[in-house]
Amino acid sequence: MAKIPVGVLGATGMVGQQYIALLADHPWFEVRYVAASSRSAGKTYREAVTGRWQHGERLQGDDVIAGCASGVGNLVVENANDISAALAAAKRGDCAFVFSALELGKDEIRTLEEAYGAAGIPVVSNNSAHRWTADVPMLIAEVNPHHTDIIPLQRKARGWNQGFIAVKPNCSIQSYMTPLFALIREGYDVRRIIVSTLQAVSGAGYPGVASLDMIDNVLPYIGGEEEKTEQEPLKILGDIRNGRIESRSLPRISAHCNRVPVTDGHTACVSLEFGEKKPSIEEVKRIWLSFSALPQELDLPMAPRRPIIIREEENRPQPRKDRDADKAMAVTIGRIRPCNVFDLRFTALSHNTVRGAAGGGILNAELLRAKGYIPEG
Ligand code: NAP
Repeated sequence: MAKIPVGVLGATGMVGQQYIALLADHPWFEVRYVAASSRSAGKTYREAVTGRWQHGERLQGDDVIAGCASGVGNLVVENANDISAALAAAKRGDCAFVFSALELGKDEIRTLEEAYGAAGIPVVSNNSAHRWTADVPMLIAEVNPHHTDIIPLQRKARGWNQGFIAVKPNCSIQSYMTPLFALIREGYDVRRIIVSTLQAVSGAGYPGVASLDMIDNVLPYIGGEEEKTEQEPLKILGDIRNGRIESRSLPRISAHCNRVPVTDGHTACVSLEFGEKKPSIEEVKRIWLSFSALPQELDLPMAPRRPIIIREEENRPQPRKDRDADKAMAVTIGRIRPCNVFDLRFTALSHNTVRGAAGGGILNAELLRAKGYIPEG
């Protein structure tokens, strides 16, 4: 089967580089178009990321990037604001859809992603700009794959034939959203949640937080993060009605989001309160260990075999030891115990630039392709 040619907008950034690394030997998708700011445009991808490539030995260094199967190192970076360059790539068969990992103002992103969609180029985005657009699905493939059903309505409302916009939620909620959904799916009503996140520095992009602010320190504020952590789960758990995705009103969530000196991997310490029906700890573990959803059923390439892993050791999960579990796409949970104030507490961990960003975006694109929304190229 010929691979589907894809573009990466923001390919030079922290998340964009993760896309390049993860797609290097993807069975369905091949990166044939890269775009970033005018600072990078005109350079080869190899030149544009020299000195700021973040992805370890596998693709580290010019030679390895240049020599990787997809040849991405030799692609010339285009300006992501120039839709005509993407359209030309689409016309020559090099860009069937784009992953968007741009860091820009929200209004600029909204306008730009709409312009790609209107030009017939589907956008699978990591940006928050369209997360609250009522007919744009905010997908975690295991949790709300049915929200892709809004795409025909989104296209109809905008007069688009082929383009669409689908987004993924914030990286801060990835570690507890799937476990939360697994319990709700089994009929346990979750009323209130208190969550404290310990978020890695890679979540701030590159170069991110100044080292003198971060070394030997914890920052108790990440702009906008608590609001996203509290509100995004409600849309993800919501229902499609009258051409829009309507958020739920529960659970109520109170979040404390902290930046910690960890390179990759967001941790969340979570306390849950259930409604009348309360599961035992054994039941919670049974539900999480047996949890499986559509991506596993469809055997999507980026899907973890087991979306939720439980560690019984009292000092796990830890970012360094657990963030890479199952292609860095699994959520690892530990310290599952009763809560003295609510009902249940636990610690959950997920890889922020993989599960929480590029890997989650790729899984969403695989789901969208399996459902027939992504053109074959
Ligand atoms: P980043 O490292 O700062 O990368 C930003 C990218 O955007 C670079 O490719 C940059 O190109 C490009 N860019 C910046 N200004 C631009 C402009 N005016 N026009 C066109 N392109 C421009 O940021 P990041 O961490 O990868 O984040 C990218 C997106 O993913 C953000 O929306 C972020 O909120 C989201 N996200 C990040 C994470 C994470 O863990 N880091 C997780 C989930 C979601 P140049 O290299 O040419 O400047």
